[in-house]
Amino acid sequence: MEWCVSLPKVELHAHLNGSIRDSTLLELARVLGEKGVIVFSDVEHVILKNDRSLTEVFKLFDLIHILTTDHTTVKRITQEVIEDFASENVVYLELRTTPKRNDSIGMTKRSYMEAVMEGLRAVSTVDVAFAPHNVDAGSLRESLPINDACDGKRKRIYVRLLLSIDRRESTAAAMETVKLALEMRDLGVLGIDLSGNPVVGEWMTYLPALEFAREHGLYITLHCGEVPNPKEIQAMLDFIPQRVGHACYFEEDDWKKLKHYNIPVEICLTSNVVTASVSSLDVHHFADLYNAKHPIVLCTDDAGVFSTSLSNEYKVAASAFGLGKREMFQLAKNAIEFIFADDGVKQDLRKIFDLATKKQD
Ligand code: 5GP
Repeated sequence: MEWCVSLPKVELHAHLNGSIRDSTLLELARVLGEKGVIVFSDVEHVILKNDRSLTEVFKLFDLIHILTTDHTTVKRITQEVIEDFASENVVYLELRTTPKRNDSIGMTKRSYMEAVMEGLRAVSTVDVAFAPHNVDAGSLRESLPINDACDGKRKRIYVRLLLSIDRRESTAAAMETVKLALEMRDLGVLGIDLSGNPVVGEWMTYLPALEFAREHGLYITLHCGEVPNPKEIQAMLDFIPQRVGHACYFEEDDWKKLKHYNIPVEICLTSNVVTASVSSLDVHHFADLYNAKHPIVLCTDDAGVFSTSLSNEYKVAASAFGLGKREMFQLAKNAIEFIFADDGVKQDLRKIFDLATKKQD
């Protein structure tokens, strides 16, 4: 495990509200319990439970959103989540979150995202390069090589944002999120994710907003094939998104199409097994895709909800699929090619990995 922690890593599929520390969720629940908004003893075991079906996961998200959807808390969880990823040597993080409205406290999708940005700026334990053209990014490049975890130097992490459309949303609400993403491009928003309960909603509802996003140059990643839905899977693949997440219920034609378009897959091993989207790691599609040299990247999905970390996902993959350090290192490094940030960032990341290779030799 220690080796997996020291390995530089790229995280491309992490939901903000799924990545919160249990200790923070419990603290927030206790406060709301004291205010009489919730009954703490009713939610404590829900937060601490380890095994969850996909349906239970979405019930938990509804609870998490009650606990977190105010500006101060959004700022706090963003800060903590970034610090947690950096502490295990994630050197590039694409963090996704669903901009939310909460009329009772005057929260708009924009003010929600402003709170996220404040959280980013508040990170103090590591240096964060978050905007494509900001001063931090410039100075970061000049001070390369960076992220030398072993020599006690201060850590640095690139953070970029993806805005999620929740499958419960209408076309108009999805469009609002895309427009917000476009307005926030200079602040490091690179693209759009489609997520939320996969048994809710219709592909055609989101398609206009996703097409608009693409026309305006935003990158797109879709949660695809989390439940059996052959028609939707084919429609999503025909859209040719830049990446897909999960791909658990693909049939032969879906694999053919995915490979034909060479669409990278964000693989979330623990999440897939815990939610029983895949019955066990023995039959997980990681092995086939890896052997076929199809682009894949290991990700956490929801490190808090599934009690995992990116280092743990690498450890799980190594032991389940019999991969050695060399293969794991290459797998981690390959992820650079599938990030949505620009070539300058890719070059910097390659340097970080090259430096780590030299250290190993
Ligand atoms: P948030 O967007 O609120 O920061 O992060 C939590 C949200 O991400 C959930 O409410 C849900 O919409 C989405 N999400 C998190 N994990 C999953 C997952 O495994 N599958 C899908 N489809 N959506 C997820």
